[in-house]
Amino acid sequence: MSHRIKKTWKDRLSRILPFGVGVTKPKHFRDMLGIIWKNRDNLGYAYKVLTKGVCDGCALGVAGLHDWTISGTHLCMTRLNLLRLNTMPALDVTLLENVAALQKLDNAQLRELGRLPFPMVRERGAKGFRRISWDDANARIAAKIRATTPKRWAMFVTARGVTNEIYYMAQKAARFLGTNNVDNAARLCHAPSTSAMKHAIGLAASTCSYKDWYGTDLILFFGSNPANDQPVTTKYLHEAKALGTKVVLVNPYLEPGMKRYWVPSSASSALFGTDIADYWFPVSQGGDIAFLYGVLKILFAENWVDERFIRERTAEVDELKSRAAAFQFEELEAQAGLDRAAMREFAALIRDAKNAVIVWSMGLTQHTYGADAVSMALNLGLARGYVGRDKCGLMPIRGHSSVQGGAEMGAYATAFPGGKTVNAENAKKLSDEYGFTVPDWPGLTSPEMVEASARGDLDLLYCLGGNFLRTLPDPVYVRDALANVPMRVHQDIILTDQMFIEAKEEVILLPAKTRYEQDDGGTETSTERRIMFSPEIPRQVGEARAEWKILRDIAAAVHPERAAQLGCETGGKMREEIARVVPFYDGFQHLAKTGDAIQYGGPHLCADGTFPTADGKAHFRTVPLPNLQKAAGEFEVSTRRGKQFNTLIYAEIDPLNEAPRDAVLMSTDDAARLHLIHGDRIALVNRQGRYEGRVHLAPIARGNLQVHWPESNHLLRRDLRDGPSGAPDYNTQVRVERLVG
Ligand code: SF4
Repeated sequence: MSHRIKKTWKDRLSRILPFGVGVTKPKHFRDMLGIIWKNRDNLGYAYKVLTKGVCDGCALGVAGLHDWTISGTHLCMTRLNLLRLNTMPALDVTLLENVAALQKLDNAQLRELGRLPFPMVRERGAKGFRRISWDDANARIAAKIRATTPKRWAMFVTARGVTNEIYYMAQKAARFLGTNNVDNAARLCHAPSTSAMKHAIGLAASTCSYKDWYGTDLILFFGSNPANDQPVTTKYLHEAKALGTKVVLVNPYLEPGMKRYWVPSSASSALFGTDIADYWFPVSQGGDIAFLYGVLKILFAENWVDERFIRERTAEVDELKSRAAAFQFEELEAQAGLDRAAMREFAALIRDAKNAVIVWSMGLTQHTYGADAVSMALNLGLARGYVGRDKCGLMPIRGHSSVQGGAEMGAYATAFPGGKTVNAENAKKLSDEYGFTVPDWPGLTSPEMVEASARGDLDLLYCLGGNFLRTLPDPVYVRDALANVPMRVHQDIILTDQMFIEAKEEVILLPAKTRYEQDDGGTETSTERRIMFSPEIPRQVGEARAEWKILRDIAAAVHPERAAQLGCETGGKMREEIARVVPFYDGFQHLAKTGDAIQYGGPHLCADGTFPTADGKAHFRTVPLPNLQKAAGEFEVSTRRGKQFNTLIYAEIDPLNEAPRDAVLMSTDDAARLHLIHGDRIALVNRQGRYEGRVHLAPIARGNLQVHWPESNHLLRRDLRDGPSGAPDYNTQVRVERLVG
């Protein structure tokens, strides 16, 4: 059976009826009017954000309304939905005087209350928060840091619109205060890519540019749904398809937005849609490694690999080759959920592709074997020499606007600025640069911070944005852990429900400026390594302060006698320092206005065939097959995102597949086997908990289910993480129970 996507009668109909009449699809133009209405009290500022700022949504990257890939307008609903965060007025802080009422609201309702305008404190036993001065807030936090030891406090930095400068100051302040317990949201998404890529090619960034999608023979998407997560990629794909590029999906679910999309800024696509994917390989959750072993087994056996590239530019292929040869297809088929004919069909596509770009996302990374799965995608790319040249590349596509820069700036428990490993040698070098002693021990990763809180090993947990309560597995455990810390600080622009968990001593809220309000502007690094300048678009809400200044002020308050060592008195001075400390950012200190950008490393990394590894070669990695433990009758469950940005949910119904938030995506075969129909109420049950939802029939691999995140987080095991990187596993196994009524 071919895995080429067949056109249904609905597909054919949508090519005749304009604007996708009668088909499930986003209503872009209607939704845009809704956004204008929502921002009507501050349209002038909204316009400035859209025309001058670097988007605070995903990491595709756009300055104003233009990017470096397409000639027309670059805009999507994710960005427009985020706009209100930047235009909304301050909330009424008297609401915070009693958190009991606020605890009844969900995060979407809390967001609608408005911006956090003033520093607030809630002491143990108090019903709610009261306003305090910045001096008081800084003094309280400084006193706590002075009273504890560097290993007993930690700082988490979210990916919400955070600039490179904020990440940089977060890590510098933490290290100035003696701790490496500073980590960022990249830990939860692409940390497995970082560890696998560093081993394979010596760096942890996309080796190519988006332009390489145009006219490449193949774009392979593994565990990726860019139509939802990086919407303007559909425009890139629309143009790539016109040049003959084939798009291949390897994913349990045939994401509707990747099958067909209506690109609003392209007249032909807005009217009649664009067929995006050509092939869909419905791999079972956790089956990517086995599937790719099957593909490599065929590629090596048939000699459909780039022998010269392998011989001259790589190492460690022999072990991989013999491991692939030793596997029996039956074993690989059982895990992959795809048979050897599918593996051969995929291998033939590879054989016929002189060029290809391999793109992957959370479907590959967020597993206990996430780094291994990424290594297999890299093995495939190296076997064919899809790196360092035009129309080829290895691309860990990023979902949040600032995660690429987070680790590069060193806001990472295991890496200093420049992505340098935390060890004694690198700590000494950074100490010499900074003029103070930088600790040389690896810090706590984000999930470890919560574990340390649960054990009573932290006196202070500082959260710059984020919401551990919603983003990490096992929310009951997380709630108890957060309650077990004497002091928590939440530096944020809006309220989230984790703020209302009472601490042992006090919870402090610090009002932050948005990305666009940051004093002296800031920069973001996109997936394609483009560092873009976003100028300050002045606006003052209450007493909100620039995020990097808040961090610097607190560090200075702890040790006023040596505050001068912090340097970075202005954004410009900080960028000059970063350009020195992170040499591949050199040049970005001269960026000054909207549209100013540099792409570090140029369009292709490793373009000369040498890799920044110890021996200058790329390295294959032989990985084990995962130990998948599904009992008879159980389903594999993946968590998925709907109409949301991170945990910010914008619609109860996903406009791409009409799935409500409680939908349980299930194949028609599985539903028929269980005598279920669309809309039936079911419960997903495992040792961790129970999740009730409704059957939502969908094109998904048999034996697989998908449910929305974060609602289903209580089904996930908190102890399952990718070994090398510590990224949590956001998948599980369940049995299905029918509910009556
Ligand atoms: S695709 Fe990403 S970068 Fe582009 S406008 Fe949308 S959210 Fe912003």
